[in-house]
Amino acid sequence: MLGEGIIKGMAETARNFLGSYVSDERLTTVQYPEERIPQTENARQFPFLVHDGEDWHKGLRCVACQICEKECPPKCIYIEKSKDKKPDYVGKPQFYPAVFDIDLAVCMSCQICVEVCPFDAIKMNIEYELSTADRFGGLLVNKQQLARPNAYFHKIHPTEAAEVDARLAAEKAKANAKAKAAAAAATKTAAAPPATEAATK
Ligand code: SF4
Ligand code: SF4
Repeated sequence: MLGEGIIKGMAETARNFLGSYVSDERLTTVQYPEERIPQTENARQFPFLVHDGEDWHKGLRCVACQICEKECPPKCIYIEKSKDKKPDYVGKPQFYPAVFDIDLAVCMSCQICVEVCPFDAIKMNIEYELSTADRFGGLLVNKQQLARPNAYFHKIHPTEAAEVDARLAAEKAKANAKAKAAAAAATKTAAAPPATEAATK
């Protein structure tokens, strides 16, 4: 029927309008900024960098592989790789970002940087009240401003953070077992007598 969609839409609006006098569930708006609607667990606004432990710089998971920088559609991530290395979460020496900036004025919250990161180093934050009077540099944020502890990640996205923790713990256990096996093999080789010495006995 012609106009059926309009009638249905008006009926829903009327239901919410009249229903809002008797039920809070029908209130679809709040008195912002005095009131705020709680965000759902899957809400996403802009990226942040996850760090483990207390020291944000030491604990940054990012290894400056620059995959996110290449894949970001509007090219709002800028990374410079370090010249030296620091241990990652499994103790392996890795590069780290000497510079890691994101221009949040350009970011379109697509989450592609999160999807492509092989190190679970970048996740989506739920902070959205970022307005600033500095129109040129105010939303260009650096790695220190982007860094948040893993506990924060758990607070805003508990299901995803628990899944990431379990995966990283499994990877760490695997790496430790491999290192242990390599060390045991090296000890065994060092303890064995050289082949020529063994043949002359
Ligand atoms: S969310 Fe999208 S636009 Fe924003 S930094 Fe990540 S890839 Fe770039
Ligand atoms: S955030 Fe992830 S994808 Fe981006 S540079 Fe760091 S490790 Fe690589």
